[in-house]
Amino acid sequence: MRVLVTGGGGFIGSHLVDALMDRGDEVWVLDNLGTGSVKNLEHHLDDPRFHLRVDTILDSEVVDELVAQVEMVYHLAAAVGVRYIVSDPLGAIRTNVRGTENVLQSAYRHWKRVVIASTSEIYGKSQGAPLKETDDRVLGPTTINRWSYSAAKAIDEHFAYAYHQQGLPVSIVRYFNCYGPRLHELGYGSVIANFTRQALAGEALTVHGDGKQTRCFTFVADTIRGTLLAGDRPEALGEAFNIGSEHEITILDLAKLIQELSGAKSDITIIPYRDYYGHNYEDTLRRQPDTTKSREVLGFGAEIELRDGLQRTIEWCRENYSVGNG
Ligand code: UDP
Repeated sequence: MRVLVTGGGGFIGSHLVDALMDRGDEVWVLDNLGTGSVKNLEHHLDDPRFHLRVDTILDSEVVDELVAQVEMVYHLAAAVGVRYIVSDPLGAIRTNVRGTENVLQSAYRHWKRVVIASTSEIYGKSQGAPLKETDDRVLGPTTINRWSYSAAKAIDEHFAYAYHQQGLPVSIVRYFNCYGPRLHELGYGSVIANFTRQALAGEALTVHGDGKQTRCFTFVADTIRGTLLAGDRPEALGEAFNIGSEHEITILDLAKLIQELSGAKSDITIIPYRDYYGHNYEDTLRRQPDTTKSREVLGFGAEIELRDGLQRTIEWCRENYSVGNG
């Protein structure tokens, strides 16, 4: 199959590219290499089945040219990471809204199947766990930049449903806190990248708030399996799916686990949110997926235990982070 992966140079995107190349597809990547990196793809660069286009999804002509020549599109390119969104809300809104509109418009024009990567951030600060795909979204005021990410991704989903009503074969996957090898060293908001970097550098692990907030961390191999299933199954058309682990952990316990697994001598320090995100910030205190629909429709369930996934991630970080031993 000929497949386009937007954001294929990124952390999740590059793992998707690996899986598609493994199954024999011809893969085009469109990535501006903003938060993505050519290093994530270097093992494919000499393969004639692999094509890299360094450009932006904001250029509708580029998007159209690439969409026209493939059979299927996985749209993962986005401005991601809460910290990044908070620091550049304008750029993030533009990328996440216009970029997705460009991709969907071209897919509709050329009649190509699309999988849109969305996020558990969609649910906002809704605390009723576990979260079903049809649950209400609970957002704070528009004066808080964080919620612009949830709002932009929600518009993307509305676009996708609207195009589906016009007949476009599209599915949506909502990722829950994905982690694994190739997590960007500077974090881009990922607490696992931050804690691992800090542990390897012998610095204190910075837990925000009281550390009682929870997340369900999902190993990237599971995230990719869910994404591929959503692209393959006919029953997935016109539907959104939670792609995540149901194992919930507090951020303080996560810090302790990373401390233990990395053998770090570093302490854990509790810091206020504002020291990291600036003023005017709100966190999501609990976020657990209900995966009934993904199990029933896609046959998806996360398989990698957090301890196992963290071990593999820390090992990779040790080799690849500038603070590691590699
Ligand atoms: N967090 C933390 N220390 C850090 C980075 C993040 O305690 O160095 C917290 C953050 O405030 C949030 C949780 O970890 O409560 C998950 O943050 P992340 O940015 O990884 O993901 P998201 O908030 O998008 O789920």
